[in-house]
Amino acid sequence: MSDSSTHPHSDTNPAPCSQQPGVLEVITGPMFSGKSEELIRRLKRARIARQRVACYKPDIDLRYHRTSIASHSSQTHDATTVATTDRLREHLYPQLDDIEVIGIDEVQFFDEHIIPLALELIALGKRVLMAGLDTTFSNEPFGPVPNLMALADKVTKLSAVCMVCGQAAIHTQRLGQSRELVVVGAAGLYEARCRAHFHPTGDDPAEQLELPA
Ligand code: ADP
Ligand code: MG
Repeated sequence: MSDSSTHPHSDTNPAPCSQQPGVLEVITGPMFSGKSEELIRRLKRARIARQRVACYKPDIDLRYHRTSIASHSSQTHDATTVATTDRLREHLYPQLDDIEVIGIDEVQFFDEHIIPLALELIALGKRVLMAGLDTTFSNEPFGPVPNLMALADKVTKLSAVCMVCGQAAIHTQRLGQSRELVVVGAAGLYEARCRAHFHPTGDDPAEQLELPA
């Protein structure tokens, strides 16, 4: 009698997998925490490994030109600017056979269709890297990011440096009176804050006294 547990096609052995699933890696944290830097680092390493990379960002970031993502430390990576998830899909799918790694920055500004797209790409064996804010300046969950974190294989939550006390900052503080959620990279409008120095309803001017001269 043969030992069914060692037979390659027995019910007790895992079925051979023709298509290895991909992975979803989410990089999150407040503004200035190094999300774009980390995304750029991972994309550059993938290219060193001769993997083919496609990178996208939403049509919202006013800081730099439309053909790259950029960090506050001026590192850049080529990227395509798209207005919606559907536009991203239309751009990506015709070349998808040639692409192994897909990076998306500022993913918080994409619509909820980004979630099924991420799952589809993983099922097709792609490595999907998504960087974005987890919370708004009002401390609300930001767009699709919390869902993407829940679905990810790997979540990297970065902290910035609190601009009041120098401790680890997990919040994005809105400065001044702007109520606009969608102002990206507009210098002087936001800064990183720790829990103790974060004010979701607006900045406390008294605290500015604590800033080093
Ligand atoms: P994110 O994409 O998370 O907004 P970036 O990758 O664009 O962050 O920028 C990270 C860089 O921002 C840091 O390496 C540092 O040079 C700079 N920086 C400016 N302010 C801060 C801060 N408060 N905390 C940490 N880094 C800061
Ligand atoms: Mg960034």
